[in-house]
Amino acid sequence: MPVLDYDIVIVGAGPAGSMAARAAAEKGMRVLLIEEHPQVGVPVNCAEGLSANGLRDAGISPSPEVVSQEVKGVRVYAPNGKYLELPSSERAGYTINRDIFDRRLAEMAVEDGAELMLETRALRVVKEEGRVTGVLAKRGGEIMEIRAGVVIGADGFSSIVRRTAGLGRWYTDVATCAQFRLAGLHLEEPEISEFYVGAKYAPGGYAWVFPKSREVANVGLGVRRIHKKPAIEYLKDFVKADPRLRSGKPILVNGGVTPVSGLVEQMTGDGVMLVGDAAGQLIPVTGAGVHAGIVAGRIAGEVAAEAVQSGDVSRRTLREYEVRYAVEWGERIRKSRRVVEMLDRFNDGDLNTLAEIITERDILNLANGRNITRVLARLLRRAPLKIMKMALIYLST
Ligand SMILES: Cc1cc2nc3c(=O)[nH]c(=O)nc-3n(C[C@H](O)[C@H](O)[C@H](O)COP(=O)(O)OP(=O)(O)OC[C@H]3O[C@@H](n4cnc5c(N)ncnc54)[C@H](O)[C@@H]3O)c2cc1C
Repeated sequence: MPVLDYDIVIVGAGPAGSMAARAAAEKGMRVLLIEEHPQVGVPVNCAEGLSANGLRDAGISPSPEVVSQEVKGVRVYAPNGKYLELPSSERAGYTINRDIFDRRLAEMAVEDGAELMLETRALRVVKEEGRVTGVLAKRGGEIMEIRAGVVIGADGFSSIVRRTAGLGRWYTDVATCAQFRLAGLHLEEPEISEFYVGAKYAPGGYAWVFPKSREVANVGLGVRRIHKKPAIEYLKDFVKADPRLRSGKPILVNGGVTPVSGLVEQMTGDGVMLVGDAAGQLIPVTGAGVHAGIVAGRIAGEVAAEAVQSGDVSRRTLREYEVRYAVEWGERIRKSRRVVEMLDRFNDGDLNTLAEIITERDILNLANGRNITRVLARLLRRAPLKIMKMALIYLST
């Protein structure tokens, strides 16, 4: 069996993995990035929404190749059809071309010295005396061992690295998503992204319309726990009910699973780290994980490189990554998860009421896990009893 040797091996060339590869390669490490697909960025299972800050943190400029549609505002619809529009004064972000975005990130890692090996699937981690020392991988018909000081699992929600390293089998909560890319539309405001909340559209989740242009949009939804039919059936109903979308032609059908229970308990072990969806790094209210994964990838790549250089790749050293990530993103993810738990107790009538009293700024803060105590304190002063009770639950946990 062939045996390869690197300082750091990264499993999965999504945004989190490519960013980790780039950060480690910049520090002079011998880095191998392996990806099971023949092409980075394909297939796309994403609504492709990314904030301007997310694109900036990826180090990618908003060129027409990467950006499909500039997003100038966001509308959140209550079940009764009333909506709130989030500030259009700020550049909210973009609907990107995820395939090109992911490819560009991987190219940048390679430009910085990382090696990319396609059509190579990690089968499991290799352990010696309890420490992860590499991965067993399959390329074509051939099995090989890739030894490394640190293995970074960036292999998405079902992460084989996480499961075989003993860092957790599954999440306590996931959203199951279905999406159409619809063409042939005549959207009046392609610069507005739309969110639809309530069990009417998507029990436990929300539906979205993210235009890629006036004619094309990603239209999808995610459902959680209590739903009576598959996500795709809710999606068909959602599309049918909207005269703008009804005549659209699906040019892509996709979907996937997003972990929304928050960060996994342990993102590092001896010789191993997890980044991105593999570590539960999504904002639970929105299910957005690209920005959260990019930030994690950068920190993990840097910490892994420093650990290899120091000759100590134990969890004690690698935990520096968890500490650095917790400062901003860990906290946002934790708070956003508590908002999900609070919203779970709202029925559609409560959501309609909430839409009457909440401000646009409050929604932004709630969705992103920011200033939540302040938002709830303000809502408490204006809220009817039910919402008041919910807010008290949040404040007291
Ligand atoms: C329908 C849907 C819509 C979404 N919309 C948005 C959105 O609009 N905005 C947003 O920010 N987030 C969105 N997300 C979430 C977002 O897509 C993820 O959070 C993000 O892709 C996570 O990046 P990652 O690098 O951790 O993992 P991934 O992007 O999943 O990349 C993991 C990579 O690892 C590879 N891999 C897996 N296993 C192996 C293996 N054993 N060996 C080798 N390679 C392997 C995979 O092929 C893949 O390339 C959405 C998710 C879904 C399902």
